[in-house]
Amino acid sequence: MLDNSILFLGTGGDSIVVGKQIRASGGIILELEGSQFVLDPGPGCLARARQADVSIRDTVAVLVSHAHTNHATEVNAVLEALSVSGLDRIGVLVCSKKVAQGDDKELPILTNRSKGFVEKVIELEPGAKIGINNVNIYTTKTQHFDSEGVGFIFETPRYRVGYTSDTEYTDEIADQYKHCSLLIINCKYPADIKGTGHLNVTDAIKLLKRIKPKYAILTHFGIKMLEVNPMYVARDVQRECQVEVAAAYDGLMVNPASFSPRMRQVTLEPFKQV
Ligand SMILES: [Zn+2]
Repeated sequence: MLDNSILFLGTGGDSIVVGKQIRASGGIILELEGSQFVLDPGPGCLARARQADVSIRDTVAVLVSHAHTNHATEVNAVLEALSVSGLDRIGVLVCSKKVAQGDDKELPILTNRSKGFVEKVIELEPGAKIGINNVNIYTTKTQHFDSEGVGFIFETPRYRVGYTSDTEYTDEIADQYKHCSLLIINCKYPADIKGTGHLNVTDAIKLLKRIKPKYAILTHFGIKMLEVNPMYVARDVQRECQVEVAAAYDGLMVNPASFSPRMRQVTLEPFKQV
């Protein structure tokens, strides 16, 4: 990976798309000022990372926004790979409280065994800030089924990358991403579908008009979003918001310092488009 790059291992966002792997899942790899982060390791993270030639062993932190399958299910496998089953106790896990502890209904996703694989497990609520190498990481508030969930902002001296995670739209949630140069938006639904706990295209437009980042990437697509073709949607959103907008695809790599999207040299397994 280059010093500054964001790689979308997968872009699937609902149980049909992820279940059939119509779009891959597995999360996002961020390489920011030389530090590698694994964000939301969903199903297939390790396999996709291998295909994309990413060494999980180079990761400094694994971040899990909330305790849903799509975002968290491979966290144990990633920590095991990162530390070689704890032989090399390196890296930190940054996650919502529920991922590490569970709650009165759910067991934790993180196993006790995996806790011992990393240097530290950092459980964060919205509004926290930590520094890892040259990167400041802020947690943001979300409005989702998993009330303990968070979004993230990655800040370096050169740029600020926001990741909404799964959330609904409110002005308060939007305002957290002010001053983000690049905004990654989990946009599950097209404009005509309003699903609880998630953003649709209308919400994404509201968010972009309010925040005006330099560049935005839509991802985390549900089946209805794929049916209307995220690429065309991104074009319309761009026209309406006057913000550069791209629809993520599996294997998309973007440079957060220059916003230039480009194709990966490696070819991920092709997927049938619906
Ligand atoms: Zn979720």
